[in-house]
Amino acid sequence: MSARFTETLHRSYAQSLAVENVLYDNNSSLQHIQVFENKRFGRVLTLDGVVQTTQGDEFIYHEMLTHVPILAHGNVRNVLVIGGGDGGMAREVLRHKSVEKVTMVEIDAGVVEFSKTYLPSLSNCAFDDPRLNLVIADGADFMATSPDHFDVIIIDSTDPVGPGEVLFTDSFYGHAKRRLAEGGILVTQNGVPFMQPDELTGTMRAFQQLFADWGCYIASIPTYAGGPMAFGWGSDSTAAKAVDVEVLRARLDAAGLDLGYYTPAVHKAAFSLPRYIEKLLP
Ligand code: SAM
Repeated sequence: MSARFTETLHRSYAQSLAVENVLYDNNSSLQHIQVFENKRFGRVLTLDGVVQTTQGDEFIYHEMLTHVPILAHGNVRNVLVIGGGDGGMAREVLRHKSVEKVTMVEIDAGVVEFSKTYLPSLSNCAFDDPRLNLVIADGADFMATSPDHFDVIIIDSTDPVGPGEVLFTDSFYGHAKRRLAEGGILVTQNGVPFMQPDELTGTMRAFQQLFADWGCYIASIPTYAGGPMAFGWGSDSTAAKAVDVEVLRARLDAAGLDLGYYTPAVHKAAFSLPRYIEKLLP
């Protein structure tokens, strides 16, 4: 019987994946990094005992955190990704030829380096794209000090434990708002509401104070166990979230993307929330 990885994110619940083959198991200066192979999910990346992304279902997460804000906005040139060390988010953003620059601020160079070697399908050469500007720094420090403005800001962080904790604070969100260009959109990885309800409520309370249009949308990613994951949405443009499905279709056709999860209809439906998640919003 093969060894098993048991996730340590939740005190009262743990998911377990069979480990067919360990590819990497080491500590960077910041986190315990593991990559192993699982028959159903392919290569699995974990940081500090928590599943971050897998070859099998990463497309869902990365498509929904990139194409939803980018196609809703309609004229994205400059994107900021906080976290995203595996390169999947940058890969998906860079598929939009209209995007001129992606700044990716990742705190742990170790995650980037081993992802290039052990998870090459995630970045798919994104790190070689001349439009990508990789910054190794704490995303909170970058957000507080950068003079730049961005059409879309994506927070692709770990959960609010360890280095990721600062990326779930009101001050961080306040700085993020000031980094948005006119009509810009902030989207966040906001955990699985059934398992981490307070995480979503906390972010939504901050967004309610900061943005004319705030809320969340959802998608189910199998390895983020416990039901749909929530993605925070904040913008002072009320038009972006309301964009018509036919306009999204035209923009997707113009982008020429062959996707695995995202469709314009899924985009619109993702903002329809089940009642238990609605109740978590302030
Ligand atoms: N998809 C995953 C999820 O939903 O949990 C996130 C994937 S990505 C690997 C998360 C990245 O956030 C990691 O590479 C981690 O090093 C990075 N990170 C954590 N805290 C950070 C911070 N304060 N600034 C920048 N990057 C950070």
